[in-house]
Amino acid sequence: MFTNRTAMSGRHFLQIPGPTNVPDSILRAINAPTIDHRGPEFAALTLDILDKLPRVFQTQSPVIIFPASGTGAWEAALVNCLSPADKILMCETGHFAKGWGRLANKIQLNAEIIPTDWRQGADPNAIKTRLEKDGDHLIKAVCVVHNETSTGVVSDIKAIRAVINQTNHPALLMVDTISSLASLDYRHDEWGVDVTVAGSQKGLMLPPGLSFNAISAKALQASKQSTLPNAYWDWDDILASNKEGQFPYTPSTNLLYGLKTALDMLLEEGLENVFSRHLRLAEAARCAVRAWGLEILCQNADRYSNSLTAVLVPDGHDADQLRKIILDNFNMSLGNGLGQLSGKVFRIGHLGDLNELSLIGTLGGVEMGLKLAQIPHKRGGAQAAIDFLAAS
Ligand SMILES: *Cc1c(COP(=O)(O)O)cnc(C)c1O
Repeated sequence: MFTNRTAMSGRHFLQIPGPTNVPDSILRAINAPTIDHRGPEFAALTLDILDKLPRVFQTQSPVIIFPASGTGAWEAALVNCLSPADKILMCETGHFAKGWGRLANKIQLNAEIIPTDWRQGADPNAIKTRLEKDGDHLIKAVCVVHNETSTGVVSDIKAIRAVINQTNHPALLMVDTISSLASLDYRHDEWGVDVTVAGSQKGLMLPPGLSFNAISAKALQASKQSTLPNAYWDWDDILASNKEGQFPYTPSTNLLYGLKTALDMLLEEGLENVFSRHLRLAEAARCAVRAWGLEILCQNADRYSNSLTAVLVPDGHDADQLRKIILDNFNMSLGNGLGQLSGKVFRIGHLGDLNELSLIGTLGGVEMGLKLAQIPHKRGGAQAAIDFLAAS
C-alpha cells in the first residue's frame, strides 16, 4: 500500500548511510535558475569550486567532477588508467567492494579478489604477500574501499600504501571514499593515493548525481598509456575545459550550486571539526548498540566506521521487518543488509548533516522499533547515548 509519508506530521528521518539529509541551505542554493554553462557567471562558479574541492580530499592535485553516480566514478578511475585484460587486486571487504570488482570484470579487466568475511577491513599483509609474488608486475592497480558502507568497517589506507611501498611495486592505489569523504579523515596526498573515487550524496550532503576522481601525477601519467575505451570519462578533455571554468559536455549546473554551498559549509566548520563531530556521534551510536546488548558487525574496534553502524539482529529475527516497523510507525528509513547480509543487519547512517538531537531521535526510533518488533534487547540504549554526549 502506498503511504504518503510527507503527509505524516514531523520530518522524515533519512538515516540510511547515503543518500543523506540535504541541509536547507543547500536545497535553497540548488533552487535557482539554470544558467548558460558556457557563460562567464558559470565559469566563475566552476573556478571557485575547483579551487575549494581539492581541500576536502586533502590534495593539491586536480579533482574531476562527473555528472554521474558514484558507480560512474568507479568506472572512470579504471578506464582512464588501465588497458584491456590488466590484472587488478581488489579487497572484498563487503558489498560495495564486490560491486567494484564486478564492474572491473565487465569492462574487460581481470580482477583478482582478496576475500574477507565482511567483518574486517582490507588486510595490508595479504596485499603485501600477493604483491611480493608478483615479480613481473602484472598487477596494475590495488583497489580498496575506504569505508565499506555495507558493513561499517574502515580500511587502513595509510598501512596499505606502506606495504605497496615496501614491496617496491608500481601498482596504482585506487580508493573508494564514497561514504567517507567529508566524514572521516582522508588524505589523498599524504597517503599516496593515485585515484580517489567519491560521490555527492553522502558526506558532501548533496543529492545524488555528482561523482569525483582525485588524481595523482602518477595516475595522470598512467592515463597517457591506457587503452581501455574511454570517451565520456576522459580526464584529459575535462581537465582541458576546466582550465576555462568549463566542461566538455553539459554539467549538472544546479547540483554545482549545491556543491559550492556544501564546500563553503564544510570549510567554514573546518574539516577537523567535521571529523570530530562524526567521531563523537558515532561513539554515541555505538554506546546505544552496546547498551541494547546487540552486536556491531565490525569486529575490530580500531576499524569502526564513524559514518555508519551496521547492527546484527539476533538469529531468528528479520532486520527488514524491524526496518519496516520503524518506517511505518516513526517515519524513519534505516539502511538494509546488502548481499549476504540481507535480513541479518540494519545500518544506522550517522553521516553528513547531523547533530546530537538528530542522532538521539534516530536512536529513540530504533529502540521503539526493537520493542515493537519484539527483538530481544535491553532498554536504555538511547539513554546511554545521551549520557555519553552529555558527559563529553
Ligand atoms: C554508495 C556507495 C557506492 C555506490 O555509489 P552510487 O552513487 O550508488 O553509484 C559505492 N561505494 C560505496 C563505498 C558507497 O557507499
